[in-house]
Amino acid sequence: MTAVTGTRYGSLLYPDPAPSAIPRKHPAMKPPPFRYHTPRSLPEALDVLRESPGEARVLAGGQSLVPLLNLRLACPEVLVDLNRVEGLSYIRDDGARLRIGAMTRQREAEFSELLAARSPLVVEALAQLGHPAIRNRGTVGGSLAHADPVAELPCVMTALDAEFVVAGPGGERVVRANDFFLGPYETALSPGEILVEVRIPLSPAPPAASFVEFSRRHGDFALAEAAVVIEGGESCTGGRVVAAGPAWTPSRLETVERLVAGSGVGRADPGPRRELMEEVARTAEAAVAALETHADATAYQRRLAAVLVTRAVARALERWSRN
Ligand SMILES: Cc1cc2nc3c(=O)[nH]c(=O)nc-3n(C[C@H](O)[C@H](O)[C@H](O)COP(=O)(O)OP(=O)(O)OC[C@H]3O[C@@H](n4cnc5c(N)ncnc54)[C@H](O)[C@@H]3O)c2cc1C
Repeated sequence: MTAVTGTRYGSLLYPDPAPSAIPRKHPAMKPPPFRYHTPRSLPEALDVLRESPGEARVLAGGQSLVPLLNLRLACPEVLVDLNRVEGLSYIRDDGARLRIGAMTRQREAEFSELLAARSPLVVEALAQLGHPAIRNRGTVGGSLAHADPVAELPCVMTALDAEFVVAGPGGERVVRANDFFLGPYETALSPGEILVEVRIPLSPAPPAASFVEFSRRHGDFALAEAAVVIEGGESCTGGRVVAAGPAWTPSRLETVERLVAGSGVGRADPGPRRELMEEVARTAEAAVAALETHADATAYQRRLAAVLVTRAVARALERWSRN
């Protein structure tokens, strides 16, 4: 992957916009001029996007986009505010999946009893996302569409094998989380599309899972993080292990997944677990070293990611044996 030059935003580099896109005559820390639309329905929002191809951005909670506008790192000509669009904020259980509307505030999801009961991993990660003031406005869909490489939700949704419903001029399509995050702040969304729903597959009981991150100060963007989901009845048969931090996107560590699933570790059998964890630590280190890491990733960040993966696996196995 080519190294990206840019400006530090949060914990990472944000790619520089073309210099010509920055209207220098305006004072710093104020957004460039834009046309502002407040559609009331999804079709209306999609129409505005279609009429301004390539120049429009949707505004959700504004917790990433507004700083980017003020810093002139984003200079869209048109802003399509989704805050008055009806029907994009909900959390529902349809029996097979949990469905979360893209405009659901992160804080609402954090305190959702339904999510706590059916997908506690999401709640565990949300509690570590920024500060309450950010989560009060920030949306679930906004965090996913923004695709910061160390954001909590992309990592967790990849571990949960979630699907994203995307609406566009030609109707709706569904993209798996694993195929959605393409690079730093880059997703499978096309310019005229809006992320409308997140779908998390459900099993009769929530799978054992854990999310672990490390940041320098409470509320900062993480330096690295790991999410783990363990599947299986009496013995572990599968699951997903995801690391984020050293690479541009959340990355599944399939060698660690195969190791845990193939270990035959049982719910009530802690016997081989110590040896397994030593093997997990070695495998995680090799798996993170093999990732295509970004130019900014330090040896410390890679080592940290491997340690967090090991801790997340240990915590998920512990929860599984207590279930
Ligand atoms: C001080 C501070 C600390 C933070 N710390 C963290 C942290 O630790 N972890 C973390 O993950 N985040 C953190 N954030 C970011 C926060 O989580 C944002 O809420 C999130 O990144 C974007 O969500 P939003 O709803 O505010 O989207 P916006 O800022 O409105 O939009 C972000 C981007 O996504 C696009 N977008 C938004 N919604 C959609 C949609 N439905 N369909 C298509 N495109 C869409 C916008 O066009 C824009 O490009 C922090 C932010 C601040 C200011």
